[in-house]
Amino acid sequence: MIHRKTDKEIEVMREANRIVSDVHRLLMPLIKPGTRVSELDALAEDYIRANGARPAFKGYGSGSKSIPPFPGTLCVSIDDEVVHGIPTDRTLREGEIVSVDVGAEKSGFFGDGAMTHPVGVVDAEKLRLLRVTKESLFRGIDQAVPGNRLHDISAAIQEHVETNGFTIVRDLVGHGIGRSLHEDPPVPNFGRKGSGPLLEAGMTLAIEPMVNYGGFRVKIDTNGWTVRTRDGTPSAHFEHTVHISKDGPVLLTNHFKRENGETRIDNG
Ligand code: MG
Repeated sequence: MIHRKTDKEIEVMREANRIVSDVHRLLMPLIKPGTRVSELDALAEDYIRANGARPAFKGYGSGSKSIPPFPGTLCVSIDDEVVHGIPTDRTLREGEIVSVDVGAEKSGFFGDGAMTHPVGVVDAEKLRLLRVTKESLFRGIDQAVPGNRLHDISAAIQEHVETNGFTIVRDLVGHGIGRSLHEDPPVPNFGRKGSGPLLEAGMTLAIEPMVNYGGFRVKIDTNGWTVRTRDGTPSAHFEHTVHISKDGPVLLTNHFKRENGETRIDNG
């Protein structure tokens, strides 16, 4: 069931999302060779708690008894890791790309947002992967308009990614978000234009293309969490939490914006 939010609920939900984007801004200057991933994680947790919020991923259960709950505040996924990388004491290295995903809950509502950064000097093809993934997210956001269908978002993302020669991960998708981190509807990054649930004002979606340089297939590490590309090629991930207002999409997170052209940023 899709929960549409009232304007008042959206106002409350802004706060968790503001905190998510603040964490991204806090960490950005530290994304460089030599930084310990665990250091990023500790800073993020401190900031979230200092703002009266709670890390949304920490302690999140996989649904399987044999896999321990997620241990980090952040998901940090490097190079061939797609998403759900567990923060460790390892340092970031020159030439890597690193996806940082942040989730927070405050006053009963959730915020969720991710972005992938280059570490130091990165080769041109990896940078192109980052650019296309980010652009595809905004192509999807542009379709988050009342009266459209959900898969108009999905199809717009898929088309941009595949036109540029990359692939869309199928096994993981975006999601509705609000009083739960993951709500209906699932928001796939692939699909047929004109299909899926009708988009209506008050819906809130975490839209998050996961894009692979090589094949779309992924596998899960023995830790039960970390998702990697099967062929070992790099993967990128960008995510915003978006409110579908009667006038169109409004970003509730604002940790990055469109580089060419305009988008609505209505937070902070
Ligand atoms: Mg998400």
